[in-house]
Amino acid sequence: MNYEIILATNNKHKLQEVREVLSPHHIVVYGLGDLGINIDDVEENGETYFDNALIKAKAVQKLTSMPIIADDSGLEIDALDNQPGIHSARYASSFGGHPQAIAHILNELKEKENRNARFICDIVLLNVEDKPLLFEGVAYGHIAEEIHGEGGFGYDPVFYSHELRKTFAEASKEEKNRASHRGKALKKLLTYLKINGLIK
Ligand code: IMP
Repeated sequence: MNYEIILATNNKHKLQEVREVLSPHHIVVYGLGDLGINIDDVEENGETYFDNALIKAKAVQKLTSMPIIADDSGLEIDALDNQPGIHSARYASSFGGHPQAIAHILNELKEKENRNARFICDIVLLNVEDKPLLFEGVAYGHIAEEIHGEGGFGYDPVFYSHELRKTFAEASKEEKNRASHRGKALKKLLTYLKINGLIK
């Protein structure tokens, strides 16, 4: 039997990545658009990834009785005092999009020796009566000297994964799902669902 779950996002890239990882385990992942749910007016004003994921999950919980997962993620760059962090999406918008934000980051990091960075992903599971559960994944890497690759989304062309030895935008879908912050958080979620007999 399939386990059905809602992902509290309108980000089609996130939805695709989550489906790629969960579908082989007979988990059907619905996006908000699939169910006609709109939480665009919900403000992500938390101070942590967990807070923001929980805000999104709770907003959806008011509208459905299905189990919900929400992902909040971001890119932390050492040389920029861990920015853009939880503001990664807003940071990109403030420059007019990810390509422009990446150009800005490359300029800021010119001549910086420490280019280390990490992607963080917090996934919150809200399972009907249960308390929210957190699954966290981290991907370590650095900001490349220039953009590489065509795949992925967001900051992927400039994030050089230390595990893959290439940028996330150069990685295949399978590689990115194996090494990414989101893939690692989802693996923990899968373990939880299996241990609790919710999936096989
Ligand atoms: P959220 O939807 O509020 O969690 O914002 C996440 C933002 O972090 C995205 O819009 C991207 O800017 C960035 N981000 C998160 N995960 C990834 C990824 O896997 N690749 C590239 N950028 C990402």
